[in-house]
Amino acid sequence: MEAKFVCPDCRNSINIGNDIVLIAKNEFGQKGIVVLHTLLGNYESKFSADFTILEGDQVKFSCPICHSNFTHKKNDRLARFIRIDEEEKESYIVFSQIYGEKCTYKIEEKEAMESYGEHLNRYTDPDWFMWF
Ligand SMILES: [Zn+2]
Repeated sequence: MEAKFVCPDCRNSINIGNDIVLIAKNEFGQKGIVVLHTLLGNYESKFSADFTILEGDQVKFSCPICHSNFTHKKNDRLARFIRIDEEEKESYIVFSQIYGEKCTYKIEEKEAMESYGEHLNRYTDPDWFMWF
């Protein structure tokens, strides 16, 4: 079994194969569907037809099933969901909601275990990852 991604609230899976399907709202209140890649550190993304987003724009991601907000409680530039690996081990994936900003953290037991992306240094607050 491959890794699965689930909503932290309703626990339904939000990926179809290698695509993570999210609802996004941009700064103008426009809503769209955003597809992210399941491979951590791969920043390819796809958007539904009428959703406009430019480099540097901030979106708010939410669950496509229960509409729960994925925005990180401590830093609204970040979002989070849960990854369940092949051995049923769970980790939080925390990533930027700013389009073009590449930073992703994998957090287990309240410690950042892995990180990806060229903009990690923008998030250096030592205790931000204690808050989901
Ligand atoms: Zn949900």
